[in-house]
Amino acid sequence: MRILLVEDNQRLLHLVADGLRGGGFTVDGFPTVADAESALSTIGYEALVLDLGLPDGDGLDLLRRFRARGGNMPVLVLTARDGIDDRVRGLNAGADDYLLKPFAMEELLARVRALLRRPGHALGVVLTCGDIALDTVSREITVGGQTTSVPKRETDMLEQLLRRVGRVVPKRALEEGLYGFDDDVSSNTVEAIMSRLRKRLAQSGATASIHTLRGVGYMLSEDEPAA
Ligand code: CA
Repeated sequence: MRILLVEDNQRLLHLVADGLRGGGFTVDGFPTVADAESALSTIGYEALVLDLGLPDGDGLDLLRRFRARGGNMPVLVLTARDGIDDRVRGLNAGADDYLLKPFAMEELLARVRALLRRPGHALGVVLTCGDIALDTVSREITVGGQTTSVPKRETDMLEQLLRRVGRVVPKRALEEGLYGFDDDVSSNTVEAIMSRLRKRLAQSGATASIHTLRGVGYMLSEDEPAA
């Protein structure tokens, strides 16, 4: 598996590259946006590990352009910016995950491996949590093996939650996903859609639930089995 690593701090570039190689990956490391762009245009990578503050630009702009061209490999952002705003900006720019500096090499390896296992970049994969399953291509949702009819907006939200099971999905990232719909917005706020989706899952007897983290976002996690 070949990984593109973009990091301008030479010491960190070498450390991370060595760590990834130790984990069995092939790594191309570059310190600038320009180098990364040219590598991306010529080589097919399985994943991108991206620093944000680069000498010739912002990693997020690189990421945005890459996604706009249809680039769909998983992207892990390395950032020293510990603010929800920056995380939301990153998610909106197309990042799949974050790692705050400083981080342990084992953590980076674990996150990269998780991203490569995550089915976002593969087609026709089933995302699951508890007894909820969503086929990313057919869009069919089953709860406990029973097909459940779910409107498109709720399906899209559920997909975003399923892609980050056990982790918070920022509300603004979910809102961004709604911009494509041009109809009545008032009855289709994230809160309203989440509320309907939560009810629907509960009524179907799902063994996973949507949790609200006020002012931050939503998280899907499997329910604790009853004692
Ligand atoms: Ca940097």
